[in-house]
Amino acid sequence: MNEKIYLDNAATTYVSGEVLNEMLPCFSTIYGNASSLHNFGREAMGIVDRARDRIAKAINAKMSNEIYFTSGGTEANNWAIMGLALANRNKGNHIITTAIEHESVLASCKSLEQMGFEITYLPVDQYGLASLADLMHNIKTETILISMMSVNNEIGTIQNIKAIGKTAHEHGIIFHTDAVQAVGALKLDVQDMEIDAMTMSGHKIYGPKGIGALYIKNGIKINNLIYGGSQERNKRGGTINVPSIAGFGKAVEIATRDLAVNQQKIKTIRTYFLEQVNEKIPYVKLNGHPLQKVQGIVNLSFEMIDGESLLMLLDLDGIAVSTGSACTAGLAETSHVLQALGLGEELARGAIRFSFGKMISKEKVDFVIDKLVKSVAKLRKISPVTKTGGNKK
Ligand SMILES: *Cc1c(COP(=O)(O)O)cnc(C)c1O
Repeated sequence: MNEKIYLDNAATTYVSGEVLNEMLPCFSTIYGNASSLHNFGREAMGIVDRARDRIAKAINAKMSNEIYFTSGGTEANNWAIMGLALANRNKGNHIITTAIEHESVLASCKSLEQMGFEITYLPVDQYGLASLADLMHNIKTETILISMMSVNNEIGTIQNIKAIGKTAHEHGIIFHTDAVQAVGALKLDVQDMEIDAMTMSGHKIYGPKGIGALYIKNGIKINNLIYGGSQERNKRGGTINVPSIAGFGKAVEIATRDLAVNQQKIKTIRTYFLEQVNEKIPYVKLNGHPLQKVQGIVNLSFEMIDGESLLMLLDLDGIAVSTGSACTAGLAETSHVLQALGLGEELARGAIRFSFGKMISKEKVDFVIDKLVKSVAKLRKISPVTKTGGNKK
């Protein structure tokens, strides 16, 4: 049997033992409805309060009650975009975002366009960075919201979040950031970075799937997305998901606690992986920013190759990678992120994302490199495209 190697941690991670231990009692002994007034309910709410405190502390929120639990990053992004836009419509109808946001942001913006909002999708440079000058140039009196992701999930580029927050506030504009890929990868401080609303998710940081949170600074007006009971201070109805919240709170705490150690380890692995690729495989391009990036995401374009074919060959060897974001995988279209970088069709089609997790080792990388060298050679041999010009036949 092949050893299985998982290099798709930007799509999802396993649930860590510490997190699972935090969750287990919430399925059996601590099963009360957190909104109930009796002892069972209060005990469950105690667990939720602790998780909220842990998350607030990890991102330096002023108050724990600025953390609102959601069903994940997608809901938090939908809520932020729709809820902030609709609650502040009296001030204007213009929103600025970028061309490389997660689909949950882009699709929410599209839906707002149908409701009469005007959206500016800022372009990015060849490294995936949006320019501050460009942002300022596009601000109008009608601009009510700027939403820009902290870390891109396909290429790992980190935006200048603090400067964007400052710019937004100088113009009296609300600033939201999708920080799903930033938790555990960079130090997040919502006060210092002038963030008004921030999206987080559990399953990218060794927590459970189907849980996330939106940080909303007190005083910021936002409409509900989910209507129902009075849970989450009347802002998000639905019986509180105690086990997932317990796990998510623990996962955020651990990700923040171990940030430096994990990033150092992953940086060493990344450097080694890229050295090996450079040494052993010609015609490879690294996508993303050379400096302003998270360590765990490595996006490479293999020239003269179809990324999906490479993904499948690696899968036969037990190695899991991704061609774009998981949401678009399977579709014939190339990634909107790689398109925004200005990558040509061939380079976009030949892109593979390797995302390293905290359990990666040099031995695993050696195995991957060996298989990668062989698979790339195999595919290039049968490729209709050659380096010496145009099509082979
Ligand atoms: C995964 C991801 C999301 C969506 O989070 P879910 O919890 O899976 O809904 C949003 N934004 C980014 C950048 C992501 O990587």
